[in-house]
Amino acid sequence: MVSHPESSHPVIVAGGGFAGLSTALALSRSKPRPSILLIEPNKTFVFSPLLYEFLSGELRSWEVTPPYSAFLNGRGIALLQDKVISVDACKQNLLTTSGVTFTYSQLILATGSETNHFDIPGVLEHALMFKSTRDVEVLKERINYLNQSHGSQKCCVIVGAGSTGVELACKVSDLLNDQIAVHLIDLSNTILPNCHLFNQQQSQLALRKRHVHIHLQTEVESLSAKSINLINHNLLSHFTLTHDCLIWTAGTKQVIPSIFAEKIDVGQELLVDRFLQVTGCKNLFAIGDAASHREDLWPANAQVAVQQAQLVARNIIALRNDRSLQHFEFKDWGEMLSLGIGDATISALGLSLAGPLAFQIRRMIYLARFPVKSIGIKSASAWVLGN
Ligand SMILES: Cc1cc2nc3c(=O)[nH]c(=O)nc-3n(C[C@H](O)[C@H](O)[C@H](O)COP(=O)(O)OP(=O)(O)OC[C@H]3O[C@@H](n4cnc5c(N)ncnc54)[C@H](O)[C@@H]3O)c2cc1C
Repeated sequence: MVSHPESSHPVIVAGGGFAGLSTALALSRSKPRPSILLIEPNKTFVFSPLLYEFLSGELRSWEVTPPYSAFLNGRGIALLQDKVISVDACKQNLLTTSGVTFTYSQLILATGSETNHFDIPGVLEHALMFKSTRDVEVLKERINYLNQSHGSQKCCVIVGAGSTGVELACKVSDLLNDQIAVHLIDLSNTILPNCHLFNQQQSQLALRKRHVHIHLQTEVESLSAKSINLINHNLLSHFTLTHDCLIWTAGTKQVIPSIFAEKIDVGQELLVDRFLQVTGCKNLFAIGDAASHREDLWPANAQVAVQQAQLVARNIIALRNDRSLQHFEFKDWGEMLSLGIGDATISALGLSLAGPLAFQIRRMIYLARFPVKSIGIKSASAWVLGN
């Protein structure tokens, strides 16, 4: 192999979510294998599509958050439990929270996304989130408390009618007793604006069956510990709901370490070209929720993250061997949504199916093809390892 200066240091992957973990694993399968360092602050992988089952008690925490060691042992990938805080793309080095500097031959930023509060007053202080197992534990406690408390009519509000908000509204309705009303709020004029029509229709039925109150074209103005102020843009009217629990699923924003590079200005957005290289930086790549592209609006989901990981690993090997790089083309494998306990909807590979059978198939797909005991490892592996 030709020895390049950019080959003598490790390939570093920042972030061990769907994108970063898949990249590290794909790189580890290449021959010859480069030295690979994965930097990730957490000890366990989070399989987010199964957080609803963790909330309902259908799965346990360790099943949806398998330790990284279960994926990485014996694969020649070094794992550092740390966080990347800044990158110098000119010197090809990065700095971590614990103060260590690493020089990289290629760096893949796969630092994901976080909840976007849109600077709306009260969200940060009073809303519950739904992204980590800690968030799920807090929500579980709140649901238990509400189910046990008596007195006036109780109310749970979910803001955001994208897939997380809709899936959560169905699951939460099944977990709360009949006396507690569930409200779903969204600025858009439809639920699930980016989802397949069949799944949209099935979700509408599932929400109706559970008597979820849907407020569309409705914007959140502010919220407090007990109430939420809203404006309905269709009726041009302001109204207030009192709540006992408010969950915010209304948007995400990219997580980007600070980046110094001569020719680019990385501000709010980490822009990549079709090769997934950060614009103007040959040895810096970005994938998954953390990356965006000017023309192609790739959805922020695990499918895109995993497909980009496979390509970025191939492109890095190509770059190190002076071969040409390939463009990223997203292939939509279809979509599965959990719609409450024992219920789901699937629209994939020409199949449209809803109900208990769809729930079983969704689970089976997640459980597929990994011969280890933890459901989380099996399910995550079906995505991450692609086997
Ligand atoms: C509740 C829920 C349900 C979902 N369901 C589905 C679904 O059914 N299907 C689907 O396709 N998608 C689903 N998604 C979306 C999917 O989870 C994300 O699109 C996917 O996780 C993106 O992968 P990623 O690797 O880019 O980011 P993430 O999975 O968010 O991983 C980012 C990783 O980077 C780490 N990190 C952050 N900052 C740093 C730093 N500075 N240095 C080092 N590491 C860092 C984080 O700890 C994290 O491990 C769901 C999301 C949620 C929240």
